[in-house]
Amino acid sequence: MPVSFRAKNTVGSTTLAITARAKELKAQGHDVVSFAAGEPDFDTPDFIKKAAIDAIQNGLTKYTPSSGTIELRQAIANKFQRDNQLSYNPKDQIVVSCGAKHSLYTLMQALVDAGDEVLIPAPFWVSYPEMVKLAGATPKILETCEKTKFKITARQLEENISPSTKVLIINSPSNPTGTVYTRKELESIAAVCVKRNIVVVSDEIYEKLCYANEPFVSIGSLGKDIYNLTVTVNGVSKAYAMTGWRIGYLGASKEIAQSVAKIQDHSTSNPTSISQAAALAALNADESTLNAMKEEFRKRRDFIVKCLDQIPQIDYIYPEGAFYVFCNISKTGLDSDTIAKKVLDEKDVACIPGSSFGADDYIRLGFATSMERIEEGTRRLAEWFQNNQRG
Ligand code: PMP
Ligand code: GLU
Repeated sequence: MPVSFRAKNTVGSTTLAITARAKELKAQGHDVVSFAAGEPDFDTPDFIKKAAIDAIQNGLTKYTPSSGTIELRQAIANKFQRDNQLSYNPKDQIVVSCGAKHSLYTLMQALVDAGDEVLIPAPFWVSYPEMVKLAGATPKILETCEKTKFKITARQLEENISPSTKVLIINSPSNPTGTVYTRKELESIAAVCVKRNIVVVSDEIYEKLCYANEPFVSIGSLGKDIYNLTVTVNGVSKAYAMTGWRIGYLGASKEIAQSVAKIQDHSTSNPTSISQAAALAALNADESTLNAMKEEFRKRRDFIVKCLDQIPQIDYIYPEGAFYVFCNISKTGLDSDTIAKKVLDEKDVACIPGSSFGADDYIRLGFATSMERIEEGTRRLAEWFQNNQRG
């Protein structure tokens, strides 16, 4: 076989595959309700598009510094300070990449080696374990349960740290569960990481989609020691409906950020100059457009859980952030892959099986779609579950 062991050992992205299949079926004329997508359904705001058009017309179409333009890194530094109380020097502590996925991928290449362990709380976003494996290291999954709202505890963390443990990944608000860590919870996790010298990768891509009353907290802001150990990852995809533009970024200690920068120099060079200009406009704008989208997501969250309340075969974890509801389907006696396949084949409803996130008793429903489609999709799901009851 001509391909590497690394490639053979990598599992493709189910989230991308199912979303693509739903789009394909739609194109063939099926009336698909897609709860699969992990992206806002809103169009990118006009002022952001205009910034990109201006960039093209003004000749900003050449290579930029590999880690991003200094203007964009400054805007990111301002955002980190303003929203997260995190001070990163734009010159050498911030790297802009081709999406937060790319930030995380390059970061893993920069952080870990063979023999190192990376702690990943389950349910986890599909790409984390694969990124760790691609860096030659070992993912170690920390199982969580509904009782703790799928959050790890400081005690559990401490019990799972071995001499090989180097990194912990925290994703709050979480994809796929929608749960959000409180300040207190993060403080106790931070204390363990500081005590045991564990690097924290904090994936904050859903930061702007928090529906709880408590303000969002960045773990890196909880003191000097944890700041030094934390890499804060974010991007414009989810907050500004800019998934296709591919701009993500990270803030870290100088040593980590410059290690990421070196690797990026030899892989992608800079992210697209035009997208960087668009991201600059997004980050420098006031948050009114962003808040309007968030309000709409909040309404949809409230609506979809009401619809799910009508389906006795489904229990769900009330989402406090992001745009996913993680539904417990164990009452059906079927595994998540079977359910996801059947509801797509039989009802034209696309969802992501929990198996992709390390939780086979669940399916993920994304509510980044209109109220009408939520109503129609959950109506079809209710019918399907009614007709496929156990026994
Ligand atoms: N982290 C999580 C948890 C996500 O759901 C996504 C969505 N794809 C990303 C990172 C990456 O987002 P992007 O590459 O579009 O910035
Ligand atoms: N993060 C989104 C999701 O989980 C987009 C797909 C992906 O990048 O995996 O559906």
